[in-house]
Amino acid sequence: MVKAVVGANWGDEGKGKITDMLAQNADIIVRFQGGANAGHTIKNEYGKFALHSLPSGVFYSHTTSVIGNGVALNVPIFFNEIRSLTEKNVPMPKIMISERAQMVMPYHIKFDEYEEERLKGAAFGSTKSGIAPFYSDKFAKTGFQVNELFDEKTLKEKIARVIVQKNVLLEHLYHKPLIDADELFATLMEYKKMVEPYVGDVSAFLDRALKEGKTVLLEGQLGTLKDTDHGIYPMVTSSNTIAAYGAVGAGIPPYEIKEVITVCKAYSSAVGGGAFVSEIFGDEAEELRNRGGDGGEYGATTGRPRRVGWFDCVASRYGCRLQGTTDVAFTVLDVLGYLDEIPVCVGYEFEGEELSDFPVTWKLEHCKPVWKKLPGWKCDIRGIRSYEELPENCRKYIEFVEEQIGYPITMVSNGPAREDIIYRESPLKK
Ligand code: GDP
Repeated sequence: MVKAVVGANWGDEGKGKITDMLAQNADIIVRFQGGANAGHTIKNEYGKFALHSLPSGVFYSHTTSVIGNGVALNVPIFFNEIRSLTEKNVPMPKIMISERAQMVMPYHIKFDEYEEERLKGAAFGSTKSGIAPFYSDKFAKTGFQVNELFDEKTLKEKIARVIVQKNVLLEHLYHKPLIDADELFATLMEYKKMVEPYVGDVSAFLDRALKEGKTVLLEGQLGTLKDTDHGIYPMVTSSNTIAAYGAVGAGIPPYEIKEVITVCKAYSSAVGGGAFVSEIFGDEAEELRNRGGDGGEYGATTGRPRRVGWFDCVASRYGCRLQGTTDVAFTVLDVLGYLDEIPVCVGYEFEGEELSDFPVTWKLEHCKPVWKKLPGWKCDIRGIRSYEELPENCRKYIEFVEEQIGYPITMVSNGPAREDIIYRESPLKK
């Protein structure tokens, strides 16, 4: 059976923690999209880790960690991450890389940098991990799949063909150093050595595993609002972040995905530009940012301060719907314990009308939040393990959000650790 763990919002919802927790009872964890441009932060008995490309299951010896074909594989980053784990005494994880996964090329990262430089103020706020140039090349059919490393003659010819186009841009648009074919080939041969022990047919492996009754977790990166198609285009990531894409990016039938656990954060945070209706500013934002997450809302990959805001019912309802949510994991709720009153965005006002559905980007830019204030609970809820023990106002907050988004909140996360979780029976769960 396949379960997907995905984000309802802009990313950083705490998917890493939820995947890590669910991985205790899973056999295989698959990354199916995205690259090393975002990170999961995981805290466990070995220490605190920021993972950018390894799946969150790497800390268990009973799981196999898989890089699906949908991922943007940055080979050196991937291997440095493995090294960072073994250095901290984490046992060497079992890893499989899809032979159909494509690799981020050194020039993809350069192109990302050069393009941001060229656009200056109008830039997308890219993490400069090469993700947009990578996916552009993948769909333009000028990308490189891992298996191509093993056919050296054809690889050389392809490099020669592909860099002609790249070098025109480098010379005439960006005025930067050109790509040297021999150097690139040598780099790819280094990559080959690094990936060789792990490469395999992921789709066939998963097919066998499912027939044997194994449990597979699909681990999403970012969230619905950063999905290329359904997010706040163009301030999105360059891959599909919704669970449906898990079937494509892992190579499994769509009907195998039986549970979609959508991770939804108790307030909002976002990195990069783009419309963010429930965003807050000034001292109010500063306080939430510093108290947020586990040690503040700062990017796991870039260290950039995240934009923050109050919970957005409109965006989260949409976020959960597009994921095909069966269960909501409501996270980082403990952070809100300092507030007397908690504002929640319950609607969007657009040109004098209230919208109930999340709109397209140009309309979103003009939306004003409609606020409702709920009473706070004014205490620390970390350490609580049963729903009934939560303060009444805290339960009311959860139940209000559940009613607004219309999907069952069956898990409440009240701390960064694996055991900081409260299971709950939801009236919406059939
Ligand atoms: P992901 O990209 O969705 O996996 O999210 P991140 O790992 O970047 O962000 C979540 C941050 O919040 C990490 O620092 C986690 O350790 C932390 N975190 C996760 N769940 C909770 C929670 O329930 N409470 C608190 N305080 N922190 C949490």
